[in-house]
Amino acid sequence: VKAKIAVNGYGTIGKRVADAVQAQDDMEIIGVSKTKPNYEAAVAHQLGFDIYAPAANLGAFEKAGIPAAGSIEEMVKKSDLVVDCTPGGIGEENKDLYQKAGVKAIWQGGEEHELAGYSFNAIANYEGALGLDFVRVVSCNTTGLCRVIYPIDKAFGVNKVRVTLARRAVDPNDIKKGPINAIVPDPIKLPSHHGPDVKTVIPHINITSAAMKIPTTLMHLHTVNMELGDKCTAEDVRKVLGYQSRVRFVGQGIASTAEIMEFARDIKRPRNDMWENCVWSDSITMHEGELYFFQAIHQESIVVPENVDAIRAMMELESNGAKSIMKTNKALGL
Ligand code: NAD
Repeated sequence: VKAKIAVNGYGTIGKRVADAVQAQDDMEIIGVSKTKPNYEAAVAHQLGFDIYAPAANLGAFEKAGIPAAGSIEEMVKKSDLVVDCTPGGIGEENKDLYQKAGVKAIWQGGEEHELAGYSFNAIANYEGALGLDFVRVVSCNTTGLCRVIYPIDKAFGVNKVRVTLARRAVDPNDIKKGPINAIVPDPIKLPSHHGPDVKTVIPHINITSAAMKIPTTLMHLHTVNMELGDKCTAEDVRKVLGYQSRVRFVGQGIASTAEIMEFARDIKRPRNDMWENCVWSDSITMHEGELYFFQAIHQESIVVPENVDAIRAMMELESNGAKSIMKTNKALGL
């Protein structure tokens, strides 16, 4: 029997998680929730997902000709595990609902670590999530940082990490927020929360970060600087990152996030998703004993494989993290 998974909040992350779960052979989507009967609900219906909605909105779905299978409460009760992909801060309001129904839940990076009590990254701490009821899959930026810091720390020891994040202002479908013509230090008071959030996954790492919002929708760009414990060369670091299945080296004329997204379209990724960290191989440099490199992070999709692995750990479908990662990657085509 496949694990029964519900997606609460079928937005940017939720729709991708739903497709990724459906692509696995050991789990299946039993329903997705939408608050309003809009075009995304219509597409979810076309894709064959059962749609659930807040009880008070069910009439609106009927009126719009988009059949709803029931209320969100009913969806939760039918599932083994809910992946909560509601906007940051909303997810915490659902904890009671999940607890009362006796189902497991995954929250996303917009929620606080304390809500779930376990912050997850597949490569760094899969095994610790085995059988847990509540897990938080960390944000896009934190996921991107954990995927490179963890293996480099394992190989050489990391004394400290300093990272500057140039963040996409909004996702491509967002017509409400900006900026469209400014660079905004955010937050002005340092450090930003992004680097330190890595410590919720890998507590012993000394890390701080500064972040800014820039007028783009495509990806985030990290400038990573690390002081390593052991002496090593750029080539040694390249080798370690080269072994990581969720780190992709970019080059061959790819000089920007725009070209990474074009590449993702060209290799026919669904929704031009780039699930891997994109590290510019040529940027990996040792300068006066410190490591530097650039990586780009596709915020809309990078956490999607981690959600699948988190499900597999919590449902104890696979006890070995490396095996789950391989299984997820293969089913997605990564
Ligand atoms: P989103 O706004 O694109 O989607 C949220 C969805 O939840 C929408 O479909 C909305 O209609 C629905 N919703 C709102 N209130 C609801 C409720 N009470 N019950 C059920 N559904 C409800 O948001 P998103 O970008 O997918 O973000 C979801 C979570 O993922 C947040 O915690 C966010 O921080 C995190 N995250 C986002 C990104 C990103 O770049 N978009 C990356 C990593 C993690």
